[in-house]
Amino acid sequence: MLVLVLNCGSSSVKFQLIRTSPEEIEAGTEKKLARGNIEKIGMTTAAVSFQAEGRAPVKEKPVILEHRVAIERVLSLLTDPDVGIIKDRSEIGAVGHRVVHGGEKFSGSQVITEEVYREVVECCELAPLHNPHNVRGYEIAHDLLPDIPHVSVFDTAFHQTMPEHAYLYGLPMVVYRRHSIRRYGFHGTSHRYLTWRMEKLLGRPAKEFNLITCHLGNGCSITAVQRGQSIDTSMGFTPLEGLIMGTRSGDLDPAVVLHIMAKEELTLHEANTLLNKHSGLIGLSGVSNDMRELVKESSRGNKPAQTAIDVFCYRLKKYISAYFGALGGADAVAFTGGIGENSPLIREQSCHGLECLGIVVDRERNEKLNGGEGRISSDDSKVGVFIVPTDEEMVIARDTVYAVSGNL
Ligand code: ADP
Repeated sequence: MLVLVLNCGSSSVKFQLIRTSPEEIEAGTEKKLARGNIEKIGMTTAAVSFQAEGRAPVKEKPVILEHRVAIERVLSLLTDPDVGIIKDRSEIGAVGHRVVHGGEKFSGSQVITEEVYREVVECCELAPLHNPHNVRGYEIAHDLLPDIPHVSVFDTAFHQTMPEHAYLYGLPMVVYRRHSIRRYGFHGTSHRYLTWRMEKLLGRPAKEFNLITCHLGNGCSITAVQRGQSIDTSMGFTPLEGLIMGTRSGDLDPAVVLHIMAKEELTLHEANTLLNKHSGLIGLSGVSNDMRELVKESSRGNKPAQTAIDVFCYRLKKYISAYFGALGGADAVAFTGGIGENSPLIREQSCHGLECLGIVVDRERNEKLNGGEGRISSDDSKVGVFIVPTDEEMVIARDTVYAVSGNL
């Protein structure tokens, strides 16, 4: 079956066309036929990039003022006789939609029925910055491809196995009951992919090992996976909690927010922007939210860049240690995301000093394997440390196929 994977953000549509089926998943013969991005939707010019298997890449800067035009462009690129990969849109068998928030209702992917649609819309209240765009993407795609199943794959679903003692905050219970304020966790699709991939790399079923997965991209989160199930994760009610991120603060004394709001007379919107857009690596360094830049600058002696890296790695190290305890010991730590896959320095620094837990990174392997997949810990490290390039689109495509065939 050909699955169109769609990820609609506020000003972007990311997509892939993946050929997959239960048999192909089993045999490891699934194939990515095309991928692309449409960014800057609604701005003066959008940025389109697209490449189908064996065809010339496409880069264009058309005017695309709204998501409907963007998704129509996706379909016309896929069916274009020169650069596309299918003859007709009827060849697409199903669409898999990334949906950020599934609240407490969804602990797995779902074929989108009227009822599921209504419940996903209800979850917009919990993720007002993300879910409305995911919902809009579904509405448009359903209009354009009405005769095939559409499946929602939630970022929060993998973490629905967290026990109460991990997902409750120390707030009055009425706040949880009335407003659903609790830890949900995000990046679940990526943490789940890593868990699946680690089965192959360790040669054991997930039921037989404990794992700590570190997704370090623009957004960063870490998850404690006990025998295949998420038992704790660093992002919380929103993706703001936990690790230091490109532009987000991560953990903070909540009183700080009240104090700054009072002192600087900030509105809710301004406080939200401060914490989500001007904090983290960019806020600490004043240089960039891009880890590549920070590594470059710190090697030139830029002190604030070095400080931002130090705070980032120390926070991560603290979480790795805490999850080691939460799990009662871990067999492996896996790094993924733009930073996790590509920065030997961050992997090494955030594991440095964890020899007491049996975590020893081998410097040469860490450098050599950068950008690849495999073990970077030394032979005498009790805990395996791994790089695992994530593939959230593949998880979405697989779930779509399984949901459609009733095998989830
Ligand atoms: P997103 O979360 O948007 O999917 P990515 O997973 O692509 O983002 O990660 C983006 C981050 O990865 C950026 O901070 C970028 O600087 C970082 N990154 C990419 N390549 C490297 C590298 N070679 N060294 C350090 N950081 C890198």
